[in-house]
Amino acid sequence: MIQSRVFVLYTGGTIGMAPSNPEDPESPLAPQPLENLLDFVPGIHGRSTGKPERERSTSTPYFELANSNRIELGFASLTEPVDSTDIGPAEWKEIAEKIAAQYDHFDGFVVLHGTDTMAFTSSALSFIFENLGKPVVLTGSQLPISAVGTDAVPNFINAVCLAGYKASKLPLVPEVVIVFADRILRGCRASKVSTSDSAGFDSPNFPRLGDIGGHITVNTEYVLPSPATDKKFFVRTGLVDKVSSISLFPGFSNRQMQKQFLDPAVEGLIMRSYGSGNVPKNPAFQKTLQRAIKGESMAGAAVNGGRLVVNLSQCSFGSVDMGRYESSSGLLEAGVISGLDMTPEAALTKLMWVLGTQPAQERRSQMQISQRGEQTENVFDLRFHDKSQEHAAGIISCASSPDPRLDRSHISRAMLHLVGLQVENVEAGVEIRIRTFMNPPSASANSCPDADEQRVTGFTFRKEASRPMQTYIRNITHKTRSLLGNGDVVLTLFSDVKKGDFWVPVQINFNGLHISITARA
Ligand code: ASP
Repeated sequence: MIQSRVFVLYTGGTIGMAPSNPEDPESPLAPQPLENLLDFVPGIHGRSTGKPERERSTSTPYFELANSNRIELGFASLTEPVDSTDIGPAEWKEIAEKIAAQYDHFDGFVVLHGTDTMAFTSSALSFIFENLGKPVVLTGSQLPISAVGTDAVPNFINAVCLAGYKASKLPLVPEVVIVFADRILRGCRASKVSTSDSAGFDSPNFPRLGDIGGHITVNTEYVLPSPATDKKFFVRTGLVDKVSSISLFPGFSNRQMQKQFLDPAVEGLIMRSYGSGNVPKNPAFQKTLQRAIKGESMAGAAVNGGRLVVNLSQCSFGSVDMGRYESSSGLLEAGVISGLDMTPEAALTKLMWVLGTQPAQERRSQMQISQRGEQTENVFDLRFHDKSQEHAAGIISCASSPDPRLDRSHISRAMLHLVGLQVENVEAGVEIRIRTFMNPPSASANSCPDADEQRVTGFTFRKEASRPMQTYIRNITHKTRSLLGNGDVVLTLFSDVKKGDFWVPVQINFNGLHISITARA
């Protein structure tokens, strides 16, 4: 006989609710104690509650499975079981710490939770747990466990079977997941999609981790691998809730935007934009966004180190793709972060986690990288630092070391950003040319023919008296795919001005040079 041990943590929610007035079945539902809920779960052996003290058994409650294996159960409740609309960072901390305290004593964990914010909790827990090597399964129900035709019993039993995988002979799923109706979903990919259907959850941008029919099937190819054995499990619960989520709508004014984006109490924002990440081209919006990212406030103190602004689509399916339309390319220039194909729940809780656990200079890059499989792609900003001494000759050479997590064989987009470009000692109206080469064999003025294979982009522009400083963004996806080697990346910029029929080297300066690379996570 194989035995596994599952710890069940009850937080409240419809699953354990009953009419608040027992005399009136129509009265509003309110959370009840865990014991009331367990009374309705068939097949739990060894539960002695309700019996007089002397008749209580000292054995651990357990389920006996059809294969005669056993799943032993341990139980606990939140300090006060609640409707999940009342759950937030303080309760996530309590849930995480209760699981951490039992982590070594159980094979898996079940969290009974209300459906309204279950996907926020499953996302938050995904980020809070580091090196999770055991299943943490959230479930609940659309109808109370005492109701006729309830979905609570199968949800509860399926969740326990997945968490007690050894006894039920299922593959290990070392992730935070939601088990609901016929689906097993990654916790940080799931959203509530129906207020009443028994299939109340789905993961629009990621395949299901498993299906529940007559049996449970786990789609192991989508399950995250277990952490290395030397990586110890721990929790980081210090989430920062100074965040906000704002959904744009036709008619959204710059005044409203300023109020919400320039609020000194907000350090991170989710901006729910249209389609693939588009916002109105209105220059006033763009200006407000830039001010928000810099950390400026309408009134009150500035936000030190600036704000993180994450662009997330209002569509449930698909990904943000800034730069595809004119209406979103200004966002790249302003420094808006792409939320790619994250769910709103994952984006918001990841933002809280990044603000609370990552050093200031790392926050932006950590927000753009998949931490727990919550997004399909990563965005890496390769920042280039000027190493050359040859400015005056019109040549600047810079290097950058890509993050080791960058999968070079699956680059979907690469955008070159030349920020705050200035050309000194040149009059307005004069034509300027900038050509950029990646990993050139040598950086000499003679080695930059336009046909050169190493040339990633080239463009000309005229100096404008009214805008001495400009930012240029160029799509260099194709060349980056072929030129990005395994080591450091070197960019060499040649700059010259047109004098009569000739091009003459000229000195340029800029505030920043980086390539933003999107690649499969
Ligand atoms: N309002 C309930 C809750 O989230 C809904 C449910 O559990 O289905 O707690």
